[in-house]
Amino acid sequence: MRIDIITIFPRMFEPVLNESIVKRAQNKGKAKIYIHNLRDYSQDKHKKVDDRPFGGGSGMVMRPEPIFKAVEHILGYRLSVIGYRRGPKTEHRKPNTRVILLCPQGERLSQKAAQRLAKYKHLILICGHYEGIDERVRQYLVDEEISIGDYVLTGGELPAMVLVDCLVRLIPGVLGNKNSLNFESFAGNLLEYPQYTRPAHYRRMKVPAILLSGNHKKIAEWRENQAIKRTKKIRPDLLVCE
Ligand code: SAM
Repeated sequence: MRIDIITIFPRMFEPVLNESIVKRAQNKGKAKIYIHNLRDYSQDKHKKVDDRPFGGGSGMVMRPEPIFKAVEHILGYRLSVIGYRRGPKTEHRKPNTRVILLCPQGERLSQKAAQRLAKYKHLILICGHYEGIDERVRQYLVDEEISIGDYVLTGGELPAMVLVDCLVRLIPGVLGNKNSLNFESFAGNLLEYPQYTRPAHYRRMKVPAILLSGNHKKIAEWRENQAIKRTKKIRPDLLVCE
C-alpha cells in the first residue's frame, strides 16, 4: 500500500513513521509512506497556503490551489474539472486510489472503515488546519472524509497518524502473527478477552487457574465467555445486531 500525506507540518510525522509497526511495515516493503509539504505547492512568495474567509468571520481558510496541485503532483497528471454547471466531478479517479480529507465532519473512523480503506492500493491523505479547508476541495477533489471522533483538533496531522497506524497493521504480513488481528477488539462484535502474562502470582494477585491448565478447549471457552461478559458490561451497543 502507498500512502501520501499532504500537510503543513511534515516534521510531525517523523517520529511516528520511524517507530514500531509503521516502521516495520515500511522496512518490509509492505507500506510506502510519503510526506508532502503543502507549502511547496504554494505560488505565494511567502509560501502562504491560507486566506481570509469570504463573507467574513473568524480565522483563516486553506486555499484550494496548493491542495489541488499537491494531489495532481502525487497522481502524476493535471486534473480536469468537468461539468461544473451540471454537478461537478473531478476526473482523478484511478482505480484503487482514494483521496481522503481528515475532517471532524467526516465518517467516524472504525475498524470496519479501516478494513475497507486497507483494501485500496493508494491513499492520499489531506490534513486540514486553521478554520478548515475551502469547500471546493471537499466538493471536487476529495473522495471521502474521515473523522477520528466527535471533537475538534488543531489539525489533521494527528488524525492522519491514527489512520495510518490503524491501516498499516491490517496489511497482510505486517504483524508477526496474523491471528492477532482475528481476536482483537472490534474484529467482530466483541471486545477482546482479558490477557495475562508472567508472573502467575504477583502481590497476591493470581492469574485465573484455567489459563495455566494447558486445556486449550477450556481456555478458548473461558476467553469467549469473558469477551462476551466484558462487551456486555462496557460496550453493549456492539452486541446489537445491525
Ligand atoms: N472549523 C472546523 C469545523 O468546525 O468543522 C474545524 C477545523 S479544525 C480546527 C482544523 C483541521 O483539523 C480540520 O480541517 C481537519 O483536517 C482536522 N481535524 C480536527 N478535528 C478532527 C477530527 N476529529 N477528525 C479528523 N480531522 C480533524
